[in-house]
Amino acid sequence: MRNCEFLCECAFLKNLEEEADLVDLFKTLYCLGDFSRCARHALALAHGREMVSDDILPNEAELVSLFAFRLSAPLC
Ligand code: SF4
Repeated sequence: MRNCEFLCECAFLKNLEEEADLVDLFKTLYCLGDFSRCARHALALAHGREMVSDDILPNEAELVSLFAFRLSAPLC
């Protein structure tokens, strides 16, 4: 199985570096497994990695919908 292409530079994981158990859990659930379920991965593919806030959780699917809606909505 392939790993997430953003694994080496994922800001979310880097910010959790001191929480090794949590990093391992997220990696097992998403990064090294079914990363297509990761909200951060979906956002990066849809809008570019630079548009993904560091604090978005991999399991924040509801936030992805809201964020995507806001990006596509007219500004005025
Ligand atoms: S948290 Fe998501 S975007 Fe970051 S490396 Fe894991 S699967 Fe990829």
